[in-house]
Amino acid sequence: HKYVYDFAEGNKDLKDLLGGKGANLAEMTNLGLPVPPGFTITTEACKAYLATGSEPTGLAEQIAAHLEALEREMGRRLGDPQDPLLVSVRSGAKFSMPGMMETVLNVGLNDRSVVGLSAQAGGNDRFAWDSYRRLIQMFGKTVCDVPGEEFEHALDDVKRAKGTTNDLDLDADDLRGLVDAYKKIFSKHTGREFPQEPREQLDLAIRAVFESWNAERAVIYRRQERIPADLGTAVNVVAMVFGNLGADSGTGVAFTRDPASGAQGIYGDYLANAQGEDVVAGIRNTVPLQELERIDKKSYDELLDYMARLEGHYKDLCDIEFTIERGKLWMLQTRVGKRTAAAAFVIAGQLVDEGLIDLDEALHRVNGAQLAQLMFPRFKLDHEFQPVAKGIGASPGAAVGKVVFTSARAVELAAEGESVILVRRETNPDDLNGMIAAKGILTSRGGKTSHAAVVARGMGKTCVSGADELDINIPQRKFTVAGQTVTEGDVVSIDGTTGKVYLGEVPVMPSEVVQYFEGTLDPEQAGDALVQAVHRIMTHADARRRLAVRTNADTGADAARARRFGAQGIGLCRTEHMFLGDRRELVERLILAGTDAEREDALAALLPLQREDFIEIFREMDGLPVTVRLIDPPLHEFLPPLEQLAVNVAVAQERGEDVAKEEALLAAVRRMHEENPMLGLRGVRLGLVIPGLFAMQVRAIAEAAVAVTRSGGSACPEIMVPLVGAVQELETVRAEAEKIIAEVVGDSGVEVLIGTMIEVPRAALTAGQIAEAAQFFSFGTNDLTQMGWGFSRDDVEGAFFWRYLELGIFGISPFESIDREGVGRLVRIAAEEGRAARPGLKLGVCGEHGGDPESVHFFHEVGLDYVSCSPFRVPVARLEAGRAAI
Ligand code: PEP
Ligand code: MG
Repeated sequence: HKYVYDFAEGNKDLKDLLGGKGANLAEMTNLGLPVPPGFTITTEACKAYLATGSEPTGLAEQIAAHLEALEREMGRRLGDPQDPLLVSVRSGAKFSMPGMMETVLNVGLNDRSVVGLSAQAGGNDRFAWDSYRRLIQMFGKTVCDVPGEEFEHALDDVKRAKGTTNDLDLDADDLRGLVDAYKKIFSKHTGREFPQEPREQLDLAIRAVFESWNAERAVIYRRQERIPADLGTAVNVVAMVFGNLGADSGTGVAFTRDPASGAQGIYGDYLANAQGEDVVAGIRNTVPLQELERIDKKSYDELLDYMARLEGHYKDLCDIEFTIERGKLWMLQTRVGKRTAAAAFVIAGQLVDEGLIDLDEALHRVNGAQLAQLMFPRFKLDHEFQPVAKGIGASPGAAVGKVVFTSARAVELAAEGESVILVRRETNPDDLNGMIAAKGILTSRGGKTSHAAVVARGMGKTCVSGADELDINIPQRKFTVAGQTVTEGDVVSIDGTTGKVYLGEVPVMPSEVVQYFEGTLDPEQAGDALVQAVHRIMTHADARRRLAVRTNADTGADAARARRFGAQGIGLCRTEHMFLGDRRELVERLILAGTDAEREDALAALLPLQREDFIEIFREMDGLPVTVRLIDPPLHEFLPPLEQLAVNVAVAQERGEDVAKEEALLAAVRRMHEENPMLGLRGVRLGLVIPGLFAMQVRAIAEAAVAVTRSGGSACPEIMVPLVGAVQELETVRAEAEKIIAEVVGDSGVEVLIGTMIEVPRAALTAGQIAEAAQFFSFGTNDLTQMGWGFSRDDVEGAFFWRYLELGIFGISPFESIDREGVGRLVRIAAEEGRAARPGLKLGVCGEHGGDPESVHFFHEVGLDYVSCSPFRVPVARLEAGRAAI
């Protein structure tokens, strides 16, 4: 079994086997770029080691053979006392896990080869001893678990004795002394001497890198980033090159384009006379990469040439790590670089212009989550506003409000109409009400999967988590940051995209991308690279996609906006909102009706109001289909809550007021009270129980359609029956509806379809029967998820989902992204059996999943005709539907 690959043997497509770093080092080697020679030990060797606790058979021999070849190539032997070869041992998994796993540099140094290294470096003793002490420190910490602070303290002691705080002030003798101190620390903690044998150093370092795959921070990181736990890491053994050999040496990072904006140019940082870890540790300040031109023009020109070659080769933004050793440039790493959402679009557009990729590939390079980010309102920032802290952008958006420190206070102030930002160290389920009431959530602890972050994202609420510069004092209702104290009621602004926190009110504006979708920003004239790129890619997505995109809207205004955003109709108009506000009284009359006449009266009063609602919507959606769902939620939701009503009645009685009406209402509420209203009298059940209710709605829809059509418009209503579980329910409603429609429509030419939601598992499983009575299906994946999992959709997010996420039972809430295996299977069965019974049956989805990127791909796969989502997600769904089709 081949466990070790020379760099010349690999290529960029072998990431599974060689990890990202190894595969890309191989690619650069084969491109002829100056990569220090080395070899990669495969992820398979790692997996075998982790499974058995020992190196797989043959690995040691293969390492020996590749090491020998490396020594031949370099003309030096590992750890040779006269002229030593030194190597670095670097982790490199398939997916980048920055800083999560281990690296050991300078392997091959010992008490004897340190002298040879000095000679190699032109008699530079200081450099040699500094390299040696770095090896003992890194090796001790990562391979042998020696507490890192011990080394730090010893280094501080030497600096203090020397009266300096700068490492560079230490001379060779100081560093030699430090090596002695480090060796003592090493043996105290490990019970053995620091290993002098180079091959033993190498083997132990390789083993430590294997084991670092399961280090706690790596495990947590993988869970957060949803990287599979069983991939293992590769190990790269690379000949050392040194950036710390003097002023003609140095190290740096470079991007082939600006990863923040996508703009072309030279982006990066350089640090002279330093090693890579100094850059990361921020010990000294780097200079902009452009300065390298002045410092070392030859290396600079060479680097620019390599960067251009890499970009042309990878056809994408690359990031690069390099080192210059005494005027000689070495490429230490490259990869397709991470970028912001804006840069992703801009770069994809540029690469098309440059002829490097086609539009399909450009579409593939961006995604809906990025587009969604570009659509959040943003702060209008000018120099006046400087952030006082930076946490993790846990849930995007720009929120401004008064600071509160408790959930109760958040609820209180929000009830008074104030915008509030709930500030907590971290949130827990008890904070849920406060989080709901707040405009934004700010915590000083926790990452992207903390309770606050998960719940906030679930609610679509802006959240900055882990802003650890904030010193929060809950009992005193204040926090301090950057020397300032913020108390309850002070205004702060938080940016859930960047994680930045501002004191005071930062003005908010719609993003350019939203202005473009709204039609107020012309992409041709905007001169804005981002808007132009978005326009171009969206146009291509529309040309490519097979799924239509509709919207969930129940007002004319929402319908109009969604149409501007590209909606091709309404997939769900929830009629229940039409029963709220000042119409509540009519609903009360309906519920309290003692006689048929009273009920018909109430319905007759609702009819014209409903008709007007539908006319408005049909007008806005002129010529496009509009799915109107008959009333769904239990009627008592339109009545006051039981407790409150009971108290009111008691108080009024006490005062001797006339409470006959309230008492009747109270009795009705009592009568209708259900322990589990979500599983109770709602949807089609309501229509079957309350005579005339659905009939009134059907009539209003049909009359509105006729009115719009007669006035020159074109209305295409689709009446949808909710919560059907059995075909007989639908048949009963349909028979009545068809009669009314025939009567109203007459010869107007209006065509009304009648279909059903598939949102009860039984409906999905009997879809073949239901299709006989339905002209279309629309999957209500909210209820289908609720009833499929048995999770109350109104309660779970705060109550226990965080724990489920923590345990990895699911990686994302099934209410947010479709559970392909379970709920998705119900969708698939219903789609197949429905179409088998009625070929060409129109299929759509109108649950929240209709606007979720991952789910859109699933709905494309199962062959739905359209997805429907809230207006703001329409562009996201268009983009993802296009991506699903390529
Ligand atoms: C659904 O259940 O997915 C649905 C769209 O209906 P509602 O969310 O109104 O229950
Ligand atoms: Mg539903």
